[in-house]
Amino acid sequence: MTLSPDTVPMVGPSVRGDLPGRRSAALLERQGRRESNARTYPRHLPIGIAEAQGSFVKDVDGNVFIDFLAGAGVLSLGHNHPDLVRAIIDQLGLLTHGLDFPTPIKDEFVEAQLSMLPSSMRERMKVHFCGPTGANAVDAAVKLCKTATGRGDLVSFQGGFHGSSHAAMALTGLVEQKQPVPNGMPGVHFFPFSYCSRCPVGLRPDSCQTNCVGYVERSLRDGNGGIPRPGAVILELVQGEGGVVPASADFVRRLRALTRELDIPLIVDEVQTGCGRTGTWFAFEQYDIEPDVIVASKALSGIGTPVAMILYDERLDVWAPGAHTGTFRGNQLAFAAGTAALRVIRRDDVLGNVTRRGQQVAARLTELAPNPWVREVRGVGLMWGVEIADPHTGRPDGELARQIQARALRAGLIVEVGGREDCVVRMLPPLNVTAEVVDRACSILIDAIAECCLTRVFSKS
Ligand code: PMP
Repeated sequence: MTLSPDTVPMVGPSVRGDLPGRRSAALLERQGRRESNARTYPRHLPIGIAEAQGSFVKDVDGNVFIDFLAGAGVLSLGHNHPDLVRAIIDQLGLLTHGLDFPTPIKDEFVEAQLSMLPSSMRERMKVHFCGPTGANAVDAAVKLCKTATGRGDLVSFQGGFHGSSHAAMALTGLVEQKQPVPNGMPGVHFFPFSYCSRCPVGLRPDSCQTNCVGYVERSLRDGNGGIPRPGAVILELVQGEGGVVPASADFVRRLRALTRELDIPLIVDEVQTGCGRTGTWFAFEQYDIEPDVIVASKALSGIGTPVAMILYDERLDVWAPGAHTGTFRGNQLAFAAGTAALRVIRRDDVLGNVTRRGQQVAARLTELAPNPWVREVRGVGLMWGVEIADPHTGRPDGELARQIQARALRAGLIVEVGGREDCVVRMLPPLNVTAEVVDRACSILIDAIAECCLTRVFSKS
């Protein structure tokens, strides 16, 4: 008996036939003709999506995949979590759009968000809702710090990603994205990040004394260093798009000490690492630091209803009314879902699950250790990356990473790639993913890596 696409159950991966299937191919063809050349995900994950549930998505041909992309980290409780769907339906009949007026559900959301901060920060952090993207919130954070300090220069880090708006792109490492767009935001100074397996200053972590941050310290303290005291330092604590690169503890703590000493606001971009992704609500908690500004967006509502905000120290609140406006700052559906999401996260110990499932991923991926093409496996919580490189030259092998992504898809697992030359295969599962799904996904990925590397060896010999 063959099942129609509508009736295939979403309980496990099941891919029949080639990808894309007939219906997906038709949708992709129409998309290619009508939508922008800048489209991204379907180029390498060639499916048209029909529906989704929990950790699974079903394409229009009835193929079911484990979704370890999760809307680029947005769907922290998976697709269509019933509590969040209920909260949205209940809110839908009351109010959907509220600009920046106070509303009961927004008030609850703010209360719930502040309650997730370390107690020492709760009273002094203010909230500003931004246009509903990470990039808009990054813009807001930078504008706030420039306004509060009266300084125009900014420090950012190589390999970082902060979004695709003009200002956010200027703060981003990706040269390829910036190069075709002249006149970017001036005054951004890039420093090396603690990417130890590809040390930007050519040293080794066992003997280097974190010279990358030492270089920032010396440059910013040096009257001849060429950089006027900056208005802000911005960083991701685990670079996500940059290839899942966690900053070293020494790097982050010394950066915090330096920015305090020089009175420079420290912005942590937690758009990807925030909302539980690394096992604590925000990643900065694991570094024992307190930032001045936190940027959050992606998983704030837990279900993809867009919302973005900055949380910042009240000392910086020198903004005039209307300093950062935006029509879509009051998505009540996002507030309702996000408030419900926090209830679920507490009730179901989702942060504990992140830690346990993260340990499970780490344990399973040790199976990759003997593979010479696997340069490094890195991760925190449920943010994982497998870096693929040529064993002889050490050069990033993005082509092989793409082959692994395609093979995993054919076996029923959606993963993303990122990092230098797209050589890091990335996993961003929903935070409430089960042990069984993690196990199945890891098996698919491990097999895909083994098969593709074997083919690579033969193609090179
Ligand atoms: N900052 C970080 C760390 C991100 O990962 C992203 C998106 N991947 C952004 C900012 C930009 O968010 P958005 O795409 O919603 O503008």
